[in-house]
Amino acid sequence: MPIPTQAILCVAIPSPLRSLFDYLPPTGLESDVALQLRPGIRVLVPFGNRRVVGVLIRSSNRTDVIPKKLRSVTDIIDWEPLFSTALLNSLLWAADYYQHPIGEVFSTALPASLRQQAQLNPTSYSWQITEKGMAIEIECLGRAYRQKSLLHLLREQSPLTAAQCKTAGFNIQLLQQLRDKKLVNRILQQPTKTAAFVFTEKIDPDKPRVNTEQQLAIKTIAGGLEKFHCFLLDGITGSGKTEVYLQIIEQQLRIGKQTLILVPEIGLTPQTIDRFRKRFQVSVVAIHSGLTNNEKLNSWRVARSGAAGVVIGTRSAVFTPLANPGLIIVDEEHDASFKQQDGFRYSARDLAVIRAKEESVCIVLGSATPSLESMQNALSGKFAHLKLLNRAGKALPPKLKLIDIANEYTQSGFSEELLTQIHQHLHSGNQVLVFINRRGFAPVLKCDNCGWLAECERCDTQLTVHRVPLALKCHHCGSNKLIPKSCPACQSKQIVTLGMGTQRSEQFLSRQFPAYPCLRIDRDSTRSRTRLNSLLEKIKSGSPSILLGTQILAKGHHFPNITLVAILDADYGLFSADFRGQENMAQILLQVAGRAGRADRAGKVLIQTRHSTHPMLQTLVKSSYRDIADILLKDRKTAEMPPFSHLALVRCESQDIKLATTAINQIACLLAAKNQTLCGAVKMQGPLPAPMEKRAGRYRMHLLLQTRSRPALSRLLNQACQEIPNLKISRKVRWSLDVDPSDLI
Ligand code: ADP
Ligand code: ZN
Ligand code: ZN
Repeated sequence: MPIPTQAILCVAIPSPLRSLFDYLPPTGLESDVALQLRPGIRVLVPFGNRRVVGVLIRSSNRTDVIPKKLRSVTDIIDWEPLFSTALLNSLLWAADYYQHPIGEVFSTALPASLRQQAQLNPTSYSWQITEKGMAIEIECLGRAYRQKSLLHLLREQSPLTAAQCKTAGFNIQLLQQLRDKKLVNRILQQPTKTAAFVFTEKIDPDKPRVNTEQQLAIKTIAGGLEKFHCFLLDGITGSGKTEVYLQIIEQQLRIGKQTLILVPEIGLTPQTIDRFRKRFQVSVVAIHSGLTNNEKLNSWRVARSGAAGVVIGTRSAVFTPLANPGLIIVDEEHDASFKQQDGFRYSARDLAVIRAKEESVCIVLGSATPSLESMQNALSGKFAHLKLLNRAGKALPPKLKLIDIANEYTQSGFSEELLTQIHQHLHSGNQVLVFINRRGFAPVLKCDNCGWLAECERCDTQLTVHRVPLALKCHHCGSNKLIPKSCPACQSKQIVTLGMGTQRSEQFLSRQFPAYPCLRIDRDSTRSRTRLNSLLEKIKSGSPSILLGTQILAKGHHFPNITLVAILDADYGLFSADFRGQENMAQILLQVAGRAGRADRAGKVLIQTRHSTHPMLQTLVKSSYRDIADILLKDRKTAEMPPFSHLALVRCESQDIKLATTAINQIACLLAAKNQTLCGAVKMQGPLPAPMEKRAGRYRMHLLLQTRSRPALSRLLNQACQEIPNLKISRKVRWSLDVDPSDLI
């Protein structure tokens, strides 16, 4: 119903409802002014019986709401948009693509304090002496000595901020007492606009001369910097991808443009940030989960104002506003941490590509083991494919070898050959990396008498034995139990631990090689960032030692003294239930292998397995990731799995298995009916119990949607998401939708 003279403000509000909400402008604001309000500002609005912060998406003079039901915006919080048009459009795209409530998308994109009413640029006050304050006899303040000294100070130097007064030893009460006597005034200081960064040349003694391959990559990217282009920088570990980033970033800094770099969660260490700070004389800000809300807000502001030349962050940094964007980089683009696994389930890598398109800037996705999605995009010509096939500098690619332990005697999981090699490398003054994909002491606790296994009561999984501190832990829901002294089923004392975890290997290796320190790096030993950093520093010192750890060690670290990488058990991914199992395994093994021989000493990688003839392992040691990718892509094509089709996963969870089943069945019916109107373009698998049916006390039911037609999937999901909330049962369970899921377990 058009109301031509009245302005209508269309607002995104954080709520599970998927629509935008219409409001009238706040009282006193003229309609023509309201129509000019810019999208991306925050407004305070009444919502039910609460007041909430929303984001203005557009103003118009149309609405479908009947006039007497329209409420007014309470207040306008910002007068300048927090999101640029490009960022705003990327978020609108994401809400639609991931079928996530739009208000929650905008809320996720804001730093926590701005989700409340905090000012973008907090106003500050300063204190100025009045004419009276200059004129009076100071002595007439009698015995108020502190006030007298403060007045002295302000006569010499005024205005002063409260913080400056505090540094000089005067608190705010004293200032207020002087104000009561009309001797000083409080004046409002407009926040100063921060200027864009200025780039000055800096000599970095470590800056290498790029080789021909790097040169070609740099030249190609530089040729496309003017507008949106997507490059896949496919370079083996140690080929100098980071150097390529650095040189492109430098070119952008010279012309006043900012770069946004996304890195995996584990990859963002002070060492990484330092590498960028060392090279450039501009402000490099970090955005990650280890920061306090205030620190995050500060980095966000500096990025938004244009004062930061380089913004480096983990997944959610993809939402950082930039005044002068020039380049986006996603390092280790295959990494699983770029996908958010709950709530707003976005892929930061995919969103970064959309953002680059909206911002009309270049994006570089870099990896030694690109995801099959990106590989296929490069093969099909959608992304430009840049290859670095050789290691940079003098480093040679490591030599990989399989050790078959199917019929071998092993000591705590280590074969004779492996132990001999570890000894030799340590003895020659080198570092050895032992990779084991399980944290804890042992993955299984078993009764030898009756076969009882320690299992989690809340999940369909076994409990892991931990030694420090002593406990049985569930790695899925985090629950903790005491280790029983006798079997709960048959009371036998024959309880044994099976399998190797990092803690057990640590115990074994420390006994086996007492002359060398064994540094364990896993989630348990590095819960605090400081601890992780101090361990990384110890490794950097270079003295011969054993580094023992999980995937944390696989990500992007450059440890020049490692000459031997030992992979204790390569078999866990070979027969995985997940369709990405083999891809992930190959990526992890090659990333770990890539830590060997990164400097002038040659590297060796020994891989223990019980399936040494498996084609995947054979290709891994004899050939390259490219060949593995080729094999896997062929399989995916035959099976019509991504990247040759698109997936979406509907999940219903409840403590009551019946409710979860009823809910998923009703949703499946609804989807099937809608799908018919779309000529059955979408295949439905299920509903079925999830591979891990019970997790954290909830039963989980899955319905997998698969199609070749992205538009058909979008339309189906869009229609379904409007109607699922109307099903009564949907309010009794937790239901969720994961578009392009990475985890089907
Ligand atoms: P990647 O990111 O591909 O794993 P890096 O950029 O970290 O590789 O490079 C590995 C090491 O090689 C670093 O120490 C880096 O300084 C060095 N390096 C990079 N390019 C060159 C080059 N052209 N010549 C010599 N050393 C180089
Ligand atoms: Zn028993
Ligand atoms: Zn559990």
